Amino acid sequence: MITTTPDGRDWRLSAVCAEVDPEVFYPVDLRPDAPAVLVAKRVCAGCPVRTSCAVDVMAGEDPARRWGVTAGMTPQERTALYAATRTELGAVAA
Ligand code: SF4
Repeated sequence: MITTTPDGRDWRLSAVCAEVDPEVFYPVDLRPDAPAVLVAKRVCAGCPVRTSCAVDVMAGEDPARRWGVTAGMTPQERTALYAATRTELGAVAA
């Protein structure tokens, strides 16, 4: 799934990470407070399309293959968000 910006553009055209060394987003130490992770999170924090990025990654990422920092979240954080979303959806459906 690719969301668009309110003006209908592909959000990826405004992704700040397109201008950053991709290695920044794939640190070896993926603890949420690891220095390299904090660098990646700072990049995402200043990205104007972070919400669209998060929506797309959460909708399309294979939970068994999460890696790297995306939308300002580590794989572990995305797993937690995924689980929380599923729990809330289950509560709504019940
Ligand atoms: S939020 Fe981060 S990973 Fe997503 S597009 Fe922006 S810079 Fe890239």
